Amino acid sequence: MSGKIVSRLSAVLDRVKAAAGSRESVPRVVAVSKLKPIEAILEAYEAGQRHFGENYVQELAEKAKDERVQLKAPDIKWHFIGHLQKNKCNLLLETANLWMIETVDSVKLANALNQTLVRKAKKSVNVFVQVNTSGEDSKNGCSPDSCVDLVEHIVKNCHLLDFRGLMTIGQWGHDYSQGSNPDFETLSQCRVSVSEKLSLPLDAIELSMGMSGDFEEAIAAGSTNVRVGTSIFGEREKKQ
Ligand SMILES: *Cc1c(COP(=O)(O)O)cnc(C)c1O
Repeated sequence: MSGKIVSRLSAVLDRVKAAAGSRESVPRVVAVSKLKPIEAILEAYEAGQRHFGENYVQELAEKAKDERVQLKAPDIKWHFIGHLQKNKCNLLLETANLWMIETVDSVKLANALNQTLVRKAKKSVNVFVQVNTSGEDSKNGCSPDSCVDLVEHIVKNCHLLDFRGLMTIGQWGHDYSQGSNPDFETLSQCRVSVSEKLSLPLDAIELSMGMSGDFEEAIAAGSTNVRVGTSIFGEREKKQ
């Protein structure tokens, strides 16, 4: 391959480090590889990238079991970042090296995931709770008002789901000349509520926010996990 991915990845990592400034831990970069070929994933992996994000269960399942990935990327850590339907839980939880599900957004979905893990006698999986901070109908996620209840349900009743933090997609194209991004502020506020109501330390609750267009602003607003696709892999073809 051209080596373009390697240089783009390294530029993103530099920008992430710079945005984190003197912070103790540098935010995790999830390389969003949806609709990109295996070769692109391996190129980034060979340059040291370990966390990869995918939006579609079927596509993730196929990539994870691909022979080249199995052979050359044994330490890959997959994040599922798309909308999850209950009837896809089985397939998702069969995925090799699934590390994180970032989009748990309802009690029903949490229960379905937990019950599937119990039934399959699987070990626990990390989850983020997705919050619809912008209130747009087109976005999935629980409402900011209900996120404490959902996190509480997961912590108390879903012992095979390890709650690790909150995730938002947010409204596209915020104009930063108008001030900070309200989606990032709302997610940070949700973290404070979850921390206070459930007596969890703030720094035990991650924030997954920021994509190619705004990951530096997201980090400035406290993001610990940025999901970057285009800036690493280039523009995507539209999904068929
Ligand atoms: C596609 C996608 C991203 C990456 O978006 P880019 O703008 O390409 O960086 C991040 N998060 C989610 C949930 C996505 O679907």
